[in-house]
Amino acid sequence: MRIKTDFLVIGSGLAGLVYALKVAEYGRVVLVSKTKIDETTTSYAQGGIAAVTYLPDSYEKHIQDTLRAGCYLNNETVVRMVINESDKMIKELINWGVRFDKREDGIFDLSREGGHSEKRVLHWKDRTGFEIQRALIEEVKKHKNIKLLENHFSIDIITQHHLGLEITRRTQDIECYGAYLLNNKTQKIITVLSKATLMATGGAGNAYINTTNPTIATGDGISMVYRAKGMVSDMEFVQFHPTALYNPKEKPSFLITEALRGFGAILVDKDGKEFMKKYDERASLAPRDIVARAIDNEMKQSGTNHVYLKCTHLEKNELIRHFPYIYAKCLSIGIDFTKEMIPVVPATHYLCGGIVIDEHGKTTIKNLFAAGECACSGLHGANRLASNSLLEAVVFSHRAALKSIECYKNVKHIDAVPNWDSEGTVLNEELVLITQSLHEVQSIMSNYVGIVRSNLRLERALNRLAIIYKENEDLYDKSILTQRICELRNIINIAYLIIKFAKNRKESIGLHYNIDYPVKK
Ligand SMILES: Cc1cc2nc3c(=O)[nH]c(=O)nc-3n(C[C@H](O)[C@H](O)[C@H](O)COP(=O)(O)OP(=O)(O)OC[C@H]3O[C@@H](n4cnc5c(N)ncnc54)[C@H](O)[C@@H]3O)c2cc1C
Repeated sequence: MRIKTDFLVIGSGLAGLVYALKVAEYGRVVLVSKTKIDETTTSYAQGGIAAVTYLPDSYEKHIQDTLRAGCYLNNETVVRMVINESDKMIKELINWGVRFDKREDGIFDLSREGGHSEKRVLHWKDRTGFEIQRALIEEVKKHKNIKLLENHFSIDIITQHHLGLEITRRTQDIECYGAYLLNNKTQKIITVLSKATLMATGGAGNAYINTTNPTIATGDGISMVYRAKGMVSDMEFVQFHPTALYNPKEKPSFLITEALRGFGAILVDKDGKEFMKKYDERASLAPRDIVARAIDNEMKQSGTNHVYLKCTHLEKNELIRHFPYIYAKCLSIGIDFTKEMIPVVPATHYLCGGIVIDEHGKTTIKNLFAAGECACSGLHGANRLASNSLLEAVVFSHRAALKSIECYKNVKHIDAVPNWDSEGTVLNEELVLITQSLHEVQSIMSNYVGIVRSNLRLERALNRLAIIYKENEDLYDKSILTQRICELRNIINIAYLIIKFAKNRKESIGLHYNIDYPVKK
């Protein structure tokens, strides 16, 4: 089967939905989700979206906080651009029907998160992402130009390589003609030809054992682009959220938003003693990398599996009013956070690196754009400031949409693109191999490429990964394609990139902490 469209959008989170809504005013759009439209990381976002709205806040303060969190490895031009556009983007979200909490006097009820010098995070209770996803999906479903393909898995983007041309260098002129999609219900592979394609596939938390990311976050977009010889960057900067709920059997790990610490909750050890002041003057509100490393250290020193977050000193009704979702979740596992401490542990949360894009969301591959967590715009540098990722997703989707609208009319579909050549024979009895390899990769990444790294651990990780890579490529070549084997292949690719970038960085900075190098401030 072949589909021709003007715009192809791979991913239905915030980045994909915003772009789809904008380009749909100009042409036909195919919007793809590998599962259901609302099964995205966006739906899980709790804290909110950072934007400059009222005095005494200013663009300059938000810019400086972002640069400081990113250890000044950020692209300052991009930081200024994104933050200067923040309030305009919030208005657009509101126009699409997104609700943000307001105080009784009608102004936004802003919260403050770690690393922010002002209260500037707009939120909808503690389920901001869910609300954003809800409102945008309603708009998308109303739009006659948007064709939604749920349960369709994008295997690879189509380039000159599929016309038989050898692409040997990442600096070569590469063009994107669309993508091959696997229909998960029929197991048939569809060829989608598009004039402009947006990669909006989100992050890659599932490269690790413990993650706050939903199971869809397997780094597919980054791997597809890397395989097609597009440029990828900053992959060593993996953010661990310091406070996931310690509940070992639960996947994904449930996040306890930083906003709770912004509200006054404090991190304590098993004896109820506050420990963060030993590590940073900002105590429980220090940036995430510092807090995650401090918790890691406390756990190692005390031999415990977690520390605690204490909110029992806070006003009960206000606490429940602001954090009803977390309250209900904790109650469901027998913890009343107004009376008891919450056990918490760090978990992989966000990937700062990804597909290199310019200020218009353009990748190094022609007619291919990227936005959201799969992209690397230069906003975050060595560490992401809390609640800047939803902002980044919306700004770059908007900008990518403007550029796509400008360019797509001059692009022709390439009819010579062949359909997918599928010849695999190995069937489901090999599922056990996929499951086992996935556990092996996740354990290599968690044990050797986690919060604390060393040259020796990275070397070990790379050697072990090489074996799994080889085995999986053999299996992939023989197999009838399934989403699971493709995801495993992508996770191996992501693991390789994280290790490679980590090995190349000869310093400890931001999210990349290697005991063989002193911390660069
Ligand atoms: C628990 C949690 C809380 C968070 N809280 C906040 C917060 O408060 N503020 C903030 O700014 N950020 C927060 N983040 C980060 C933020 O939610 C994400 O960075 C952001 O939502 C990513 O949006 P996205 O559109 O790039 O990707 P996603 O929302 O993850 O969407 C990805 C889409 O791509 C699709 N997809 C993936 N691979 C394929 C494929 N091969 N084929 C077809 N489709 C594919 C998926 O099906 C999905 O539709 C949080 C993250 C987590 C995990």
